[in-house]
Amino acid sequence: MTTASGNEGVQLKYNFASDNYAGICNEAWRSMEAANRGLASSYGDDLWTAKACERVRELFEIDCEVFFVFNGTAANSLALASLCQSYHSIVCHEMAHVETDECGASEFFSNGTKVLLVPGANGKVSLDAVEHTISRRSDIHYPKPKALSVTQATELGTVYSVAEMQAVGELAKRHSLHVHMDGARFANAVASLNVEPKEITWQAGVDVLTFGGTKNGFAVGEAVVFFNKELAFEFDYRCKQAGQLASKMRFLTAPWIGMLESGAWLTNAAHANNCARLLESEVKKLAGVRVMFETQANSVFLEMAPAALEALRGLGWHFYTFIGSGGARFMCSWDTKIDDIAELVRDIRIALAG
Ligand SMILES: *Cc1c(COP(=O)(O)O)cnc(C)c1O
Repeated sequence: MTTASGNEGVQLKYNFASDNYAGICNEAWRSMEAANRGLASSYGDDLWTAKACERVRELFEIDCEVFFVFNGTAANSLALASLCQSYHSIVCHEMAHVETDECGASEFFSNGTKVLLVPGANGKVSLDAVEHTISRRSDIHYPKPKALSVTQATELGTVYSVAEMQAVGELAKRHSLHVHMDGARFANAVASLNVEPKEITWQAGVDVLTFGGTKNGFAVGEAVVFFNKELAFEFDYRCKQAGQLASKMRFLTAPWIGMLESGAWLTNAAHANNCARLLESEVKKLAGVRVMFETQANSVFLEMAPAALEALRGLGWHFYTFIGSGGARFMCSWDTKIDDIAELVRDIRIALAG
């Protein structure tokens, strides 16, 4: 994929910049087409939406409350707001998207609930740090911890194992915390672990999941899945007030039917993961570049000398270095081509040679 460049004839290559640079996959597109044949009731009161909710319930093998919003920031912040009062606090990893990339939306939509940050290796919360943060104070002057938010797959392309998620859930239960999962890349985590979705969600104590669609081949949209149905009380009003109630809801929901019925939600994610692993294994053959985190989902973080990164940019590659620990992030998607990986690896080799 290339784009017009103001950069002296260098073709800009965005293939690995982010998984949301990819387009809409066939399964999602065909579902939208099918939903476009005629009229349907608005604001989610339509058959597509009812069926999409049913498919999500089947996927998780439990009766849950399902809502659909336009993006992940809304899904995360509205979900978290429904877990807390304004005098509570939300504990999350210091690199969590809800902290670093949502412009304070969680605090805003919860009317000021404080976000408390904890460290942890590989983008996962350290349970000791969580324990410390929530138990160091219990007096009335401290914002009362009420929710624990984890990202699965993490911002650093790692994945909480089933056992790790169970430990998160147990700790939360011990301290009466609700558990939120930012699953912008939930499908990548499921594909990576090769487990049933329930094993890393409600069976491990997750109360509410932000289930990402956009980065996995949808045009737009994320599902908010409440396994703890009581917490979904009046969530529809939250969505409406936040400008997240689509009037033509069927175009957000019909793709979930096609994606879940065809299995594309999982095959797309598995493809992206496999591409990332291929990239990792190819790069590991090169000297002068270090893979920073184990590649468990669809991103590869590389550490290279600044001059090599510059050289790679000079060859037209567009990538981000502000995510994670300053390394360069290469993100694979459902639409990543094997040839693109070969081309990137070739250019990394050239960049390293100076
Ligand atoms: C992309 C992403 C989101 C959602 O971002 P939006 O741009 O608001 O859709 C949420 N969490 C993580 C970890 C993400 O990578």
